[in-house]
Amino acid sequence: MSKHTRNTYDAIVVGSGPGGATVANELALKGQRVLILEWGGNEPLNGSFIQMAKMAAIPSKGAFVNSDLSLLIRGITAGGSSAINYATAMKPPVEMFQRYGIDLTAEIANVESTLLLSILPDELIGPMAHRIASAAQQLDLDWKKLDKFIDINKCRSACHLCSYGCPHDAKWNARMYLDTAVQQGSTLLTHAKVLKVITKEHRVIGVQFKHHGKVESAFANNIILAAGGIGSAQILQASGVHNAGQHFFMDPVIAVMGKVPESYPDGEIPMAAGLHLPQEGLMLSDLSLPKPFFHLFTAQVGKFQHLLSPNNTLSIMVKAKDELSGNIGAKWVNKTLSSDDKKRLNTGAEIAENILHQAGATSLYRTHHFAAHQGGSAKIGEVVDENLQSDIQGLYVCDASVIPEAWGLPPTYTLICLAKRLAKHVDGLVANN
Ligand SMILES: Cc1cc2nc3c(=O)[nH]c(=O)nc-3n(C[C@H](O)[C@H](O)[C@H](O)COP(=O)(O)OP(=O)(O)OC[C@H]3O[C@@H](n4cnc5c(N)ncnc54)[C@H](O)[C@@H]3O)c2cc1C
Repeated sequence: MSKHTRNTYDAIVVGSGPGGATVANELALKGQRVLILEWGGNEPLNGSFIQMAKMAAIPSKGAFVNSDLSLLIRGITAGGSSAINYATAMKPPVEMFQRYGIDLTAEIANVESTLLLSILPDELIGPMAHRIASAAQQLDLDWKKLDKFIDINKCRSACHLCSYGCPHDAKWNARMYLDTAVQQGSTLLTHAKVLKVITKEHRVIGVQFKHHGKVESAFANNIILAAGGIGSAQILQASGVHNAGQHFFMDPVIAVMGKVPESYPDGEIPMAAGLHLPQEGLMLSDLSLPKPFFHLFTAQVGKFQHLLSPNNTLSIMVKAKDELSGNIGAKWVNKTLSSDDKKRLNTGAEIAENILHQAGATSLYRTHHFAAHQGGSAKIGEVVDENLQSDIQGLYVCDASVIPEAWGLPPTYTLICLAKRLAKHVDGLVANN
C-alpha cells in the first residue's frame, strides 16, 4: 500500500447522490479519510432549465431512451438526482428490509430528528394542486399532503424550481451532506468518472477513473459504489460482476392532463399532495410540469391542439410499481413495460381521470410513460449481502440499485437510511481492526 500513499484513503465513495453523499458524510464525521469521486460538476444550482438539461438530458449520460421510446432520466451532478427531484419523502418499507435481515428503525429515528421533514402549508400549495385535492376528496379518496424534504421557511409559492435545482436553498438535496463531508476533511473530485474497481486476490484495493480525459487510480480498503441504479451496475459489470444490471425497476410515470376554462399562473411546487395505494402498486399526486416538459410530453402523444394551454391544464401524476425486468449495458439501458405494468398504469390513469372530471376538466389525455427511479440492479440477496457488501471483499454498493424488490415509492428517504446503516458497519470494521 505504501507506494500509493498520495492517492490512498480509508474509503472511496463513487457518486454523490443520496446514497453516496450520506455514507461519505457519516464516514467523515467518524474521522475517516474519504475520497468522493463524482462524474458530474458541482456548480451552484441556479434553477435554470439549461443547467438542469445539462445534468439530465444528455443522451447516455443523464437520459436514456428505451426501445419503446420511453424516457429514463437521472441527474449527473454533485448530489445526483436529488439536485433535481421533487423532494417527496416517504418512509422506508421497514418490513421489506427486515425480510432481508436489515433493520432500519434506528436510522429512520435519526432522519426524523436531523432532517427537515414537512408538509406544505396551504399558502405554498398552488391553486391547481388545491383544485385537484378538493376534487379527489369529494370522491372520498384518501388524498393527503405529502411529506417533503423542504424547509418551508425558505420555500416560495408559485415556484417549480425544485425540478430544475432549487436556487433558494429550500429543498434538501444530497449536496448538503456532501458539503459537510468536505468540511470534515473529505476530498471531492468532480468530473471524475469511475470506470471499474481494482481487485487483488478477491479483495478490492482501489478504483480506476477518468478525470479530464486522463485515466487515474485511487486506493482504499473500502470502496462504496453509489453511482445510482444505472451507474453502479455498469461499474460492477466492468469489474467482472456480471449478475449486476439485470431485472431492475424504474417506477414508470404517466401524466394525465385535462383542460379547465380558468387560467392559472406559471409554476407550482409539484407533488404537494397525493394518494398512495400500496396494494395496487400505485401512487398519484398533483404534478405541475414546467412548460418545456408540458410541451414535450403533450407533443409526444400528438396532442398539438393543447400546446398553447399549459396554464389551463390540470395534471396528475400516476406512478406504478413495475415488475423487475430489462437490463443495463455499458452505454445503454433497456426496459419495456409488461402487460401487468400497463394494466396497473391504466388503473391509476382511470382514477386520475375521475378526479379531473370531478375538478371540471375536459379534453383529457394521457402522456407516454417516463421514469426517474431506476433501481434494483444490484439487489440485496443477489449481488450484495445484508451489509451491502458484494462478493468482492471490501466492495459495497449503497444506492437505489440494492433495493431488493419491485418498488414504486420515492426512494430518497430509504437511501439515506441505508447509507447511515452502512457507515456504521464500515466504521465498525475499521474500529475492530
Ligand atoms: C425529476 C425527478 C424527480 C424525483 N422526485 C423524487 C421525489 O420527490 N422523492 C424521492 O424520494 N425521489 C425522487 N426522485 C428520485 C431520487 O432523486 C433518486 O431515486 C435518488 O436520487 C437516487 O439516489 P442514488 O444515490 O441511488 O443515485 P443518484 O441520485 O442517481 O446519484 C448517483 C450519483 O453517481 C454519479 N455517477 C454516476 N455514474 C458515475 C460514475 N461512473 N463515476 C462517478 N460518479 C458517477 C452521478 O453523477 C450521481 O451524482 C426523483 C428523480 C427525478 C429525476
